[in-house]
Amino acid sequence: MTSYHSIINGKTVVGDKGSQAIFNPATGEEIAEVSLAGAAVVGEAVAAAEAALPAWAATPPLKRARVMFKYKELLEANLDALAEAISTQHGKTLEDARGEVIRGIEVVEFACGIPHLLRGDYTRNVGPAIDSYSDRQPLGVVAGITPFNFPAMVPMWMFPMAVACGNTFILKPSERDPAAPQLALELLAAAGLPEGVVNLVNGGKAAVDALLKHPTIKAVSFVGSTPIAEYVYQTGTAHGKRVQALGGAKNHMVIMPDADMDQAVDALMGAGYGSAGERCMAISVAVPVGQETADRLVDKLIPKVEALKIGAWNDPDAEMGPLVTAQHKEKVLGYIDKGVAEGAKLRVDGRGFSLQGYENGYFIGGSLFDHVTTDMTIYREEIFGPVLSVVRADDYAQAAAMINAHEYGNGTAIFTRDGDAARNFADSIEIGMVGVNVPIPVPVAYHSFGGWKRSSFGGHGAYGMEAVRFYTRLKTITARWPTGIRDGAQFNFPLNN
Ligand code: NAD
Repeated sequence: MTSYHSIINGKTVVGDKGSQAIFNPATGEEIAEVSLAGAAVVGEAVAAAEAALPAWAATPPLKRARVMFKYKELLEANLDALAEAISTQHGKTLEDARGEVIRGIEVVEFACGIPHLLRGDYTRNVGPAIDSYSDRQPLGVVAGITPFNFPAMVPMWMFPMAVACGNTFILKPSERDPAAPQLALELLAAAGLPEGVVNLVNGGKAAVDALLKHPTIKAVSFVGSTPIAEYVYQTGTAHGKRVQALGGAKNHMVIMPDADMDQAVDALMGAGYGSAGERCMAISVAVPVGQETADRLVDKLIPKVEALKIGAWNDPDAEMGPLVTAQHKEKVLGYIDKGVAEGAKLRVDGRGFSLQGYENGYFIGGSLFDHVTTDMTIYREEIFGPVLSVVRADDYAQAAAMINAHEYGNGTAIFTRDGDAARNFADSIEIGMVGVNVPIPVPVAYHSFGGWKRSSFGGHGAYGMEAVRFYTRLKTITARWPTGIRDGAQFNFPLNN
């Protein structure tokens, strides 16, 4: 059986906090184990990253970029192996896993432009014979803590930009699917990244706490659920760190009466049930505007949800796979029970689903609720499964007010042909990422990813220019060389007269 451990300075280090089993979610089989790091192993990783820092921070950005160019080639050459590593531990289909890696590679492509991205500003003669220039300098040792649902892509939102900016890095991926992050970092080492610049720590809460409290770590990037994001933000900032912590979501899609209904239904199927709903940008709430729109929508959705093709990761026809663990399957089933108990109308029930030949896998069928109301648990909480709720709105204003009132603010979408409604929605909705006839508006690598409200703590988005700003600190130098100008001692605030 494969064992995963921490990798520090290129060497395997066994965790000091016991170990945990890894399962293939399609078969329910135990396929590997991961040893968990505590404070001692985290301390070793920090020491390695600290030792590697001076040389790496002094490496010209162009040379750092060359490592990224090579890394991109290696990632592309190993795309299938990465997808297999993701799918066999996460459960998503191979095609979906390939897509995840490709979106991660796009961040590496962006990081290849780091010499340009770090270029400073220069102004001659800000005063008599005085020049001023600004420079973005690395922070030092930084850490990233990532969730199970994008085991390759979310780490790749972080470390390519962090190290391109001249920092050294410690990655603490999810302990549920460690294969893909390990392979991604092995390829980075093969691309020529010096030892110690990126270190891998596998672990759970003990490892996270050690990272958050370690005095050497200057910044922490976190992606995961909202309660942990808030905890990471509060603990990290209390220990003097810069923290960005991206949390959970409840993403609504508004369907206006004039929307292309077939397009909207297709969009909802992919965004609601793709990856079994285990995406922070999944649409989990459909908001049709007007009863007639709602009836048309639900009538078209029901047969499609019933016909979802559910299969194992390696079934090329599968549209979605199983949930990640047996515990998560139980949690999602519990939400469906709760929805029924609270009075929502369950129009498609995925609870009894079993896949022939994979009876021990963590599969459930797609579920569809109609007549969900905003006081219900299935509306308020993130389910993170293949469960779509339809909340009927009387008009556009009610739909928008509902979205604005929700505690989460990650993504949202509107489907309409009405430019006025679309523009108003994009302008005024209190959500960080908005789609107009685009159901999953995940920004490309040269924009930045980030939610609002309780979907994000700390104010910095991931990748794009937000990453350059997060992983560097600004220094501004104001310089005068001796020119013979004497203005005597100045006791008043310096003015440019
Ligand atoms: P999670 O919060 O359980 O775990 C995330 C990370 O935190 C993992 O590395 C885990 O080891 C660590 N962790 C877990 N419990 C902890 C604790 N008590 N103390 C300290 N650290 C702890 O999240 P998950 O289940 O792995 O991922 C799914 C969640 O992530 C969903 O809520 C989803 O919406 C969210 N997510 C958000 C984004 C985004 O960009 N906003 C992207 C992907 C996933």
